Amino acid sequence: MAFVNIAIDGPAGAGKSSLSKAVSAALGYIYVDTGALYRAVGLFMLRSGIDPKDADAVCASLGGVRVTLRFVDGQQRVFLADEDVSDAIRTPEASMAASDVSAFPPVRDFLFSLQRDIAAANNCIMDGRDIGTVVLPDAQVKVFLTASAETRAERRCKELAEKGMPTPFEDVLADIVQRDYNDSHRAIAPLRQADDAVLLDTSDLDFDAALAALMDIIKERVQ
Ligand code: C5P
Repeated sequence: MAFVNIAIDGPAGAGKSSLSKAVSAALGYIYVDTGALYRAVGLFMLRSGIDPKDADAVCASLGGVRVTLRFVDGQQRVFLADEDVSDAIRTPEASMAASDVSAFPPVRDFLFSLQRDIAAANNCIMDGRDIGTVVLPDAQVKVFLTASAETRAERRCKELAEKGMPTPFEDVLADIVQRDYNDSHRAIAPLRQADDAVLLDTSDLDFDAALAALMDIIKERVQ
């Protein structure tokens, strides 16, 4: 049986995860947040006292990383060994560590088959940076979701405050600008729109309007 795969790529804070979650609920697909995998690897390095920028040390310790995704009622949880780290990976430190480790090819290879295997066995909507370009080049639907850096920083600030981690706007904006730069300038699997992806800019759209636009794109391609 062939499963439907929807690939959503775009920069940090473009609304990928909240929109993908809503689509997955509407369609009954699982939602796979691949950023959580990079965050888990980044968190593992931080906890192990390894500098996430140190390519040799990061790659040498990958053998000790046991990262898995589990789906509970369609909700993704990410585990490091037997520990559910789904909340621990959401700090700004883990974000930056994820961005750092994601530039190393062995880290990307390490997480590649895990992502591919999930997509091969499920109807899914998967979000990340290289899903339409590298991980699922044959996905039936590819969307590149973006918004201005300021809009994305405002949204992320709100999200962090709601999670009890209020962070100054300037810090969040600086983090987003830095991660955009890292993600789009790395040599391997840089953030870019796939040639056959539809561009959706949500700067001037509220959540409902963005979701409606995304659902229209999907319905046109999936019967
Ligand atoms: O999506 P999220 O912000 O959680 O991703 C954290 C970091 O993981 C990103 O800044 C990016 O560097 C990396 N990432 C990636 N490829 C993906 C998903 C995330 O390189 N498919």
